[in-house]
Amino acid sequence: MAGAAPANADRTQATLYLDSPITSAKGVTEARAKALRKLNITTVRDLLTHFPRRYMDLTNVCTVASARIGEVCTIPCEIFEVRTKRPRPNLPIVEVTLVDGTDTMVATFFHMPWIAKKLRRGMRLAVSGKLAFDFGFKRMTNPLYEEISGAEVEGRIIAIHPATEMLQAGHIRRIIGDALDAASGMHDPIPPRLLASRGLISRGAAFRAMHEPRSMDEVQVARTRLVYDELLLLQLYLMQLGSREVEGATPKAHETEGSIIDALRHAMPFTLTEDQEHAISELFDQMREPHVADHMVLGDVGSGKTVVSAFGVAAAKQTGTQAAIMAPTEILAQQHMKTLGPLFAKAGISAALLTGSTPHEERMQILRDLGSGALDVIIGTHALIEDDVAFKELTFVTIDEQQRFGVGQRAALLDKGVAPDALYMTATPIPRSLALTLFGNLTHSYMRQKPNAGASRMTRAYSREQKGSAYDAARAAVMRGEQVYVVCPLIGSAKADAKRSPGDEDEPYYPDVMIEDDSDLTAEGGASAVKEAKRLSTTVFADANVGLLHGGMRPEEKQRIMEGFASGEVQVLVTTTVIEVGVDVPNATVMIVEDADRFGLSQLHQLRGRVGRGEKDANVYLISSSKQPAAMQRLSALEQSDDGFQIAAYDLSLRREGDILGNKQSGAGSLKLVNIVKDAELIDAAHADARALLADDPSLSSAEVSALAREVRMTFMDERQVSGG
Ligand code: ADP
Ligand code: MG
Repeated sequence: MAGAAPANADRTQATLYLDSPITSAKGVTEARAKALRKLNITTVRDLLTHFPRRYMDLTNVCTVASARIGEVCTIPCEIFEVRTKRPRPNLPIVEVTLVDGTDTMVATFFHMPWIAKKLRRGMRLAVSGKLAFDFGFKRMTNPLYEEISGAEVEGRIIAIHPATEMLQAGHIRRIIGDALDAASGMHDPIPPRLLASRGLISRGAAFRAMHEPRSMDEVQVARTRLVYDELLLLQLYLMQLGSREVEGATPKAHETEGSIIDALRHAMPFTLTEDQEHAISELFDQMREPHVADHMVLGDVGSGKTVVSAFGVAAAKQTGTQAAIMAPTEILAQQHMKTLGPLFAKAGISAALLTGSTPHEERMQILRDLGSGALDVIIGTHALIEDDVAFKELTFVTIDEQQRFGVGQRAALLDKGVAPDALYMTATPIPRSLALTLFGNLTHSYMRQKPNAGASRMTRAYSREQKGSAYDAARAAVMRGEQVYVVCPLIGSAKADAKRSPGDEDEPYYPDVMIEDDSDLTAEGGASAVKEAKRLSTTVFADANVGLLHGGMRPEEKQRIMEGFASGEVQVLVTTTVIEVGVDVPNATVMIVEDADRFGLSQLHQLRGRVGRGEKDANVYLISSSKQPAAMQRLSALEQSDDGFQIAAYDLSLRREGDILGNKQSGAGSLKLVNIVKDAELIDAAHADARALLADDPSLSSAEVSALAREVRMTFMDERQVSGG
């Protein structure tokens, strides 16, 4: 194909071209540059990594006459007529009659009224979809379609790039084609020996094949290469970041054996599970080393993670230093104090609780004791990161439910220590591949077992009409002296609908998790739990004591209600996702989740972890008012599996990667092609390769990897500027 290899200077030129502004690309006027910026494209690199959303394969087309019923096919044709019908006010149907010289067919588009404005009689299209035969015509329902000009039809695969109204897919395709020509000599940043060992094609060829493939196989091969690039760069970035700056301080090599640790062990009211033992020993392996440890425990809800952090605290005490445990909510911090406080006391570890509602006098005393070293461990909320909280020598920090904290908040607590070791605990049971992708710089422990395996938990997905049975079960539980949660999603549907973007009409739509933490609650949202509590206390649960708990309430009020629920006085707790994390009331055996289809599956799994924590069997009712079969099907995954890791994997397979990896701060914003579920093997490969590269050459300064190092810098430049590094 290519003639003589380009001279090295030309290749360097082509490589630098990647980072030049988009206006230097051929055919990009100021107006087009503006349109491209709307798509987050500002450099040639952005342009080349603006990958097609899908492909229309015209290497393999049929005519209307030759296409077979029941098969998926692509048919070039012409529009004869466009009609919009509305059999019901909320059911717009666009019917497009298509002809191709052999026969006539109809394309039917449901719920896409705007299509009628885009399509005109005489326009040439390629339509692609599954052919059916209905009401006397060959038909396709919601097919993919692309406008084609005659020249493009034959024997080509057309890449369809995400576009905007101002700049259509066809234009973008041409601009990218020209940029590919201009960048064709670019250097490959990945060392040849890695490419060979992983069987990957060159980067230039991969870009070309993504945008202008000759076959769909070629797209696969190209994608593999580019996915590997994305992952390797992210891993290198994370691992280099991962060596937390310690500025002169020497990280502690913690004592992980001794009388304090033994005493804590003896104080335990139960035998530790194998997973707990493993996680503790893996944490200790890290804490023993004279480096800063960043260890993450990933454990399903109720797997007993709290205990693991207690041993980290004991190791700090054993070493003669201090520890901190930070939890995202006041309720959770209180609960940790309640369960760990007595254990710590038995092991001779002094502990105190510090939250936003700690009285002033008490707070001042705690701060003095932290400063003097009289306190060994502080348990608290965000209140721990306030400026005047200072330690004598903090060397171990636990961040519970770490996904609830921002990077800045985690760093603020770590900054109070002397090169402290960190333990991050998360109840989002993400698969290993995702953990590596997002936290490639951390070491990990997994906890899958549940200590309280005795009780069983049943989950049922009910429609609105079946809700009565859920209430019956809840009333029966209250009669038996057990307790009930009713969880409401809080945010009204108008808001949720606003999140839906018009460009996504062909994607299934799953509303995202509505509320990430208490602070997201709006007054408007607070109302629906409030309303539900009112309604239930006068109707379904008229004989019971109904309590209300949501994040908009004052801390004292929340505490009063939680204590009421813990003591059994409040029998039915109407609440929000405030209770998602950590809350532990073993006597609660029924949970009803309203509008369950509005929550993410993993979040529902977390929620239901609040019941079935004791000896008694529990029942969870997920109520959905959605008419979409997909909504019920999704919820039924929770009926069928009680394994958080399985649920998470399923949940991930339904979501778009952007949603999963959307967290800019993690660096994962750079991932455009990676699919966490399908690319698990490549994730492992890139992780291993990044680790090996850094082991050989920690600063990536050798000639072999200098181009790679530059690539990491260019890719994550924005993030560095943000973090001031
Ligand atoms: P999570 O991993 O969700 O944070 P917790 O640490 O809150 O779980 O533990 C859940 C419940 O299990 C708590 O009531 C705790 O006391 C109990 N628990 C923890 N470990 C064990 C064990 N080894 N045996 C019995 N119960 C345990
Ligand atoms: Mg926990």
